[in-house]
Amino acid sequence: MRCTHCDYLLFNLLGRTCPECGRLFSVTQYHFEPGDVSFDCPHCAQAYYGNTAQGLPHPPAFRCVTCGMGVTLEDLIVRPRSSQAEGRLHGRSPWDRRNQLGTMKAWWETVKMLLGRPGQFFTEHAGKSNMEAWLFASIVSWVIAIPNALLQAGFQYFLGVPFGIAEVMGMIALGFASALWIPVGAAFMACLIRIGLIGVHSNRTFGDVYRIVLYSTPPALFSIIPVIGGFASIWQVVIEIIGVSKMYGISGGRAAAAVLLPSVILVILVVIAVFIILI
Ligand SMILES: [Zn+2]
Ligand SMILES: [Zn+2]
Repeated sequence: MRCTHCDYLLFNLLGRTCPECGRLFSVTQYHFEPGDVSFDCPHCAQAYYGNTAQGLPHPPAFRCVTCGMGVTLEDLIVRPRSSQAEGRLHGRSPWDRRNQLGTMKAWWETVKMLLGRPGQFFTEHAGKSNMEAWLFASIVSWVIAIPNALLQAGFQYFLGVPFGIAEVMGMIALGFASALWIPVGAAFMACLIRIGLIGVHSNRTFGDVYRIVLYSTPPALFSIIPVIGGFASIWQVVIEIIGVSKMYGISGGRAAAAVLLPSVILVILVVIAVFIILI
């Protein structure tokens, strides 16, 4: 639970004013995991625990069972009860908070969340803005553009292919420009997944699938590592499957079929077409 203005950790406080910047806050802005925090009576320290989906005590105003004083949700002292107790902003991802965190920090926090807890991201945070998702995916490709170009240059040097600084700059430029293809490539992949979802009843839209594809890009960051990088695209597909499963509320198996089958069928069709043309 951090201040939305200055990022100060807001645990163990009496009252709802940030000690760092003086701004008011409310516990209702946050979401707590079960058992992560307790809400203690300010008069007698009797601990209460969250019992709503958002992890807050209900009802919001009551009489303390120990000291009998009337307390409200905002009187209670929020104390962390586990080392990972965080309490994140309710319904907002790090990416949504980039004005406050700074774009690169918000991007990095979102990357970590998608790599570590993709299910949570897609359950709560996938958002509604295609432009935001596109910007996120573009930064992924921009971040790897320079190391990627240098790696390729090194590889060419190793092979004895002559190259100069102009070629390296060209590769970097190409790496940056490749972000322009992201909206097209993601839309194509989203079309295939959408076909795979035929028969699944949901009020989700094409845009939701499109954003799943765009937010599944972080494993590409590993594509610059030789050998291990080859698994990056598999990891990407796994995140897509988790995203589809969470956002459509379907099993992992059904989601895997939706993500993989149309692509596999397309590849088979292309192979058959090439085969026919060549014969
Ligand atoms: Zn503050
Ligand atoms: Zn009390």
